Amino acid sequence: MARYTGASCKLCRREGMKLFLKGDRCYTDKCAFARRSYAPGQHGQNRKKVSNYGMQLREKQKARRIYGVLEKQFRCYYEKADKQRGITGENLLRLLEMRLDNVVYRLGYGASRSEARQLVTHGHFLVNGKKVDIASYNVNVNDVISVCEKSRATEKFKVFAENPKTLPKWLEANVENFEGKVVAQPAREDIDSPINETLIVELYSR
Ligand code: SF4
Repeated sequence: MARYTGASCKLCRREGMKLFLKGDRCYTDKCAFARRSYAPGQHGQNRKKVSNYGMQLREKQKARRIYGVLEKQFRCYYEKADKQRGITGENLLRLLEMRLDNVVYRLGYGASRSEARQLVTHGHFLVNGKKVDIASYNVNVNDVISVCEKSRATEKFKVFAENPKTLPKWLEANVENFEGKVVAQPAREDIDSPINETLIVELYSR
């Protein structure tokens, strides 16, 4: 399973905004973007006029980085979204939101998507009672995501259960039972990721 292994904070600096890739650290004054809010590298502080193509490219990169998806897989998501009925950009965001690692993160297991992804790949979760350790697994409406029995007793999961997150409308959680359920497809207004999906569609439609 390929994944980005470089410095996360550089990605925020490159995109010119906080992407919250490192969990709790992002909310402290150790945040690299708060300290140096310019692009990394020797020419990072030079002001540049960004072309239309540049803006579209940056938007796509930002979306990839927020959801932790590599280039090829992201294009596959786009192609799938394009074939679906409805608005392609919204379909794309919906597909990204329905990844198992994202759903686990939204349910409050993990301070960041990368931590949630690690929890999934380490086999801590069941989908409808069956173990799934594939972070990109596509979750469907009515699927029940639960923490496997062995993991519930661990300190990490106890802490998650004691600090429940505010859930988006399309998810329900039963914190005592370490369970969550997908009750609907996420609508565009339920997805709070700061992404202008229209620019991504324009990029791929060139
Ligand atoms: Fe981005 Fe978080 Fe690093 Fe700040 S601490 S630059 S928000 S990943």
